[in-house]
Amino acid sequence: MSKFCECGKPSVFYKKYEGKAYCKSCFVKQVENNFKKTIGKDGLIEKNDKIAVALSGGKDSCLLIYLLNKIFRNKLFAIIVDEGIRGYREKGIEAGRNLCEELGIKYKIVSFKDSFSHTMDEIASEKQRPCTYCGVFKRYLLNKEARVEGATKLAVGINLDDEAESIIMNIIRGDIDRFLKLGSYPMLIDDKMFVPRIKPLRNLSGEEIMLYDKLKGIKFYSRVCPHATDSIRLRVRKIISELEAKYPGTKYQIVRFYDRLKPLIKINVTGKMKYCKKCGEPSSREICKACELLDKL
Ligand code: SF4
Ligand code: ZN
Repeated sequence: MSKFCECGKPSVFYKKYEGKAYCKSCFVKQVENNFKKTIGKDGLIEKNDKIAVALSGGKDSCLLIYLLNKIFRNKLFAIIVDEGIRGYREKGIEAGRNLCEELGIKYKIVSFKDSFSHTMDEIASEKQRPCTYCGVFKRYLLNKEARVEGATKLAVGINLDDEAESIIMNIIRGDIDRFLKLGSYPMLIDDKMFVPRIKPLRNLSGEEIMLYDKLKGIKFYSRVCPHATDSIRLRVRKIISELEAKYPGTKYQIVRFYDRLKPLIKINVTGKMKYCKKCGEPSSREICKACELLDKL
């Protein structure tokens, strides 16, 4: 690893697959440029957009709101979801809340208990795969709250590592519909009840995000959820990380491969949304997944 950045200052980060070292200020600049490029190139945010940011208090969503606030000040607000995970969630909420107060951003906390009458701790004590419930309920609440608050985009803190994992996971599962719904701004659902999700961090690795947070003094909560099970995602993450260590640039190449492949696939996964017969929220089925899972509790 080179000890010096191109500008001559001592390096703080080495991007192995580029063979390039960065000093603190050049690193910060490259992260911010990467972020702006993703937003600009894929047209994620338009002039009149109002952005809801899904803020968990972790390293990704804290960076997301910090960088969005630099460019789109006064056009965003945060939604913090309290899943009800004792000893874990309170700390993430605190980190998210503190950051919003520091940056002067409005936020709203919505809980699983109030919305679904169950906490994740209760669900995890009964169900074997709690993350399935958590993921579905979280997406449901974020979309609903973003819409109720008048947002036109919902920004989520998905990074390069997450996206590479999702691509491989959907290949393993043979799930072409979900595979085609990946990307920084899928634009597949055109329905007023559905707030489009955007991923401005999709081209930044977890390592870059963590370092940027550290260099800028952004405080986040970094513990692992006690209900995280040995899921397929964790296994895929481990394999991709091993490959990345041996073949630097693996994650980046998986995501680039996806971006080049997607426009060539001529399967139409767009379509009109239906509305859930129970709760009225948008869904591709008669009864939405959240209502279906709620019935099982
Ligand atoms: Fe929810 Fe599972 Fe993530 Fe915990 S690990 S926050 S239960 S999705
Ligand atoms: Zn429903």
